[in-house]
Amino acid sequence: MILLKTPTEIEMIRKSALLVGRTLAEVGRHIRPGVTTLFLDQIGEQFIRDNKGIPLCKGFEGFPSALCISVNDVVVHGIPNKSVYLKDGDNVSVDCVIELDGFVGDSAYTFPVGEVSEEMKRLMRVTKEALYLGLSKCVIGNRVGDIGYAVQRHVEKNGYSVVRELCGHGVGYKMHESPNVCNYGKPGTGPLLKEGMVIAVEPMVNMGSRNVKFSKEDGWTCSTRDGKPAAHYEHTVAIGEKEPDILSSFAEIENN
Ligand code: MG
Ligand code: MG
Repeated sequence: MILLKTPTEIEMIRKSALLVGRTLAEVGRHIRPGVTTLFLDQIGEQFIRDNKGIPLCKGFEGFPSALCISVNDVVVHGIPNKSVYLKDGDNVSVDCVIELDGFVGDSAYTFPVGEVSEEMKRLMRVTKEALYLGLSKCVIGNRVGDIGYAVQRHVEKNGYSVVRELCGHGVGYKMHESPNVCNYGKPGTGPLLKEGMVIAVEPMVNMGSRNVKFSKEDGWTCSTRDGKPAAHYEHTVAIGEKEPDILSSFAEIENN
C-alpha cells in the first residue's frame, strides 16, 4: 500500500532529507586520495548523531555501517572498510538514510576522488542528469513508469546501462515503502503519482553492461559484472502539483 503524507509530515521529511544532504557534504569534505572508506563512515555517523539523527542503514537487516560507500565498480551497498583506501581517479558513491524526529530522508551522491578521467566525469554527469530528468516526472497525474522511462532513455542514449536488480522506493515513515521506482519502464504504466506521495529516485548507472553481482561473502556489495565503474545519485522528492518538490539537496555538496 502506498502511504500518503500530510503537508506537515512532508516538512518533517524535508528536515530529515536536508540533514542527509549536509551529512553527504560533510563526508565530501573529507574525500581525498589515501583515506579509507571506514574513516568516511565514522565522519558521517558522528555528524548524524551530533545533529540528533539516527543512521538507519546501521543494523538494517544486519548492515554493519552508517553509510553505504561504493567505490568504482561497486554500484551500491558497499560496506565501509579499513582496508579500502581511496585513490586518485576513483569515484566514490555515498548513500545515507537518516531518521530525524520520526521521519526518514534518503539521498546519495557520487564524488570524484582527486583528478578523475573525462570518461568518469561523463558517467557521473549523465547519471545526475538522468536523476533530474526522472525527478521532472514527479508531478501529480504522471505514473511511476514515466520516471523510469525518463531515466532509462537518457542513460541508454548516452551509451550506458541502468541496473535492473535494485530500484528507488517510497520513503518517509520508513526507509523502504511502496511503490518500487525502477530506473527503467514504459511511459503511462505503473502506479499513479498522487499528492502526498514521497519517493526516492535513484538511478544506478553502469558504464558498461547492466549486469551486476552480489558478494557471497558479505551478502551486500553489489558490483558490475564487467568490472567497469558505476555511478549513483539519489534524491527524496514529494510529488508536486506542477513541479516536483525535491526534499533533499546537493547545494551544500556542490558549494564546497
Ligand atoms: Mg539511499
Ligand atoms: Mg534509496
